[in-house]
Amino acid sequence: MPALPAPTLVPLPGEGPVEILRLLDGLDAPTLWWLSGYAAAQASHAGGAARALPTAPVREAGVQERLTIIYGSQTGNARRLAEKLAHDAENAGLAVRLVRADAYPQRELKSERLLYIVISTQGDGDPPDDARGLVDFIVGKRVPQLVDLKYAVLGLGDSSYPLFCAIGRRLDARLSELGGARLLAAGEADVDIETVATPWLEQALGAARETLKAAAPRATVTPLRPHAVNAEWSRERPFAAELLLNQRIVSRDDARAVHHVELSLDGSGLTYEPGDALGVWPTNASSLVEAVLDTLKLDGETRVTYSGETHTLHAWLSTRRELTRLARPFIAAHAAHARAEDLNRLLAPDRNNDLATLLNTHQVIDLLREFPAAWNADELVAALRPLTPRLYSIASSRRSVGDEVHLTVANVAYEAFGHAHAGTASSFLTSRENGARVPVFIESNDRFRLPDADTDVIMIGPGTGVAPFRAFVQERYEAGARGRNWLFFGNRHFHDDFLYQSEWQDALRKGALHRLDLAFSRDQESKIYVQDRLREHGRELHAWIESGARLYVCGDATQMARAVHEALADVFVTHGGIDRESAQARLSELIQQGRYARDVY
Ligand code: NAP
Repeated sequence: MPALPAPTLVPLPGEGPVEILRLLDGLDAPTLWWLSGYAAAQASHAGGAARALPTAPVREAGVQERLTIIYGSQTGNARRLAEKLAHDAENAGLAVRLVRADAYPQRELKSERLLYIVISTQGDGDPPDDARGLVDFIVGKRVPQLVDLKYAVLGLGDSSYPLFCAIGRRLDARLSELGGARLLAAGEADVDIETVATPWLEQALGAARETLKAAAPRATVTPLRPHAVNAEWSRERPFAAELLLNQRIVSRDDARAVHHVELSLDGSGLTYEPGDALGVWPTNASSLVEAVLDTLKLDGETRVTYSGETHTLHAWLSTRRELTRLARPFIAAHAAHARAEDLNRLLAPDRNNDLATLLNTHQVIDLLREFPAAWNADELVAALRPLTPRLYSIASSRRSVGDEVHLTVANVAYEAFGHAHAGTASSFLTSRENGARVPVFIESNDRFRLPDADTDVIMIGPGTGVAPFRAFVQERYEAGARGRNWLFFGNRHFHDDFLYQSEWQDALRKGALHRLDLAFSRDQESKIYVQDRLREHGRELHAWIESGARLYVCGDATQMARAVHEALADVFVTHGGIDRESAQARLSELIQQGRYARDVY
């Protein structure tokens, strides 16, 4: 929260909303920003209390003559686009309200006149955690008719999954079914988000201006927090952080190198909270860039102009184009260039599983080698998706490390198709030496926040998923929190990859950590995972949760987070005496209340 003058806050009287408008009248912009951040922090600390956020009264004349933008976001992309839209709309003089889905007062839906929703779909067709309640409400039976509504939906997703943009599509269809008028076709942004999102946002802004043109301009943006943690540095303008330490923290025998990386934010003014992520802009390995140029027999010095920018092909491939993660649009383009019917057939709707296998096993270079094709430099730059930054959960608390930021990085490196392969950002980070500069920015994560000092926390983080919990434990200790901290950690072998072992032992000794339960999967004949430990300690776990403890899960989304979720449901059934359906409902309730938060991908 920026250090701006704090207005005096008075308790809400009966006529709360009207009173708020009166109080806000005449406040300057910095104070309004401060207030919005203050309210967001209150809402996130109060969990379910977010719905109590003060909002402008719907009965006030002219209030409906505004654009409401709701976003549901898991990794921050939908939020970023929604913030951009709100910002641009505000600059265009429109009255705008920007709200995270779980803070949106559902009863106000019937009074909306102009609504944009920006929402992602998780791999398996689910909404992001922060939008579950709103999606249920809109698709459910209790939603009102919306005949006065004009709306548009921008969906985000990954076309390698069969249920691509399913949530965006569902909301778009449902709002129309309820009588809403679709202002523009739903956007369906793939992993190369900007390709679809940028023109969609422009059109959406144009349509909003057209719709609201009769209304007097009133800038009333009420975002949950300021657009950037620090206005000087951002995703688009990263800070060049100095690398202070890059240390392997698993044994030599462990084939999967995990590194502890420390970077300096000194002089940047950047700040972060436990639970936030660090965005890292990597550079593709020069060996990989050379391999692409060689395979396609292209000259790296060729100058390429695309989207108003001119660079050498080498520069485009090094820092501006994705060379490891394959995506459906590039496969389609390459199949056409290579006249590869086999490859083209994989894009058919009934071949989703085969396509998923290809995407999981092949990088761009593998496809170029396997299906030779003639590309020229201009076409290649246009077809490859833009390089995107990678997000790492921050593994440190500023209270403990000052102007530094720490990461836990698993180096992805393996052999395939007769060649060495590596992950873009993990190899970039783990191969840097002290003194190197790493372009970074802070990606805040309001849904993964520590509760107040008296509340207990239960942290479940196998593998590198333990990173944010190092930050949590540091923070709670430095802040003198009285609530208890219980960590479930798992990895393959006690002796090889017990990440931060001595720190946890030290934390136990000094009372910064109250319980540590471990699951080393491969130290015995049959696998033991964190979810087994959850069930084993179910009685106590249930007691902690029922007495108000917060639950946090970080790590692999596809297998681990699901298995942990099922284990938690089992705990409610076994120790809470409720049936499975009620247990699932209870977990959904905890998610919606912000008492069960997940940082998984
Ligand atoms: P990992 O591959 O997830 O392995 C860690 C431990 O989890 C191993 O003991 C592994 O056992 C076990 N495991 C495997 N399948 C499991 C399952 N179904 N349920 C529970 N445990 C299971 O570790 P990692 O290489 O450190 O990767 C961590 C994962 O977390 C990656 O997917 C990474 O992308 C993600 N991550 C996400 C975030 C985030 O969302 N912010 C942050 C950090 C990491 P076996 O291998 O012996 O089966």
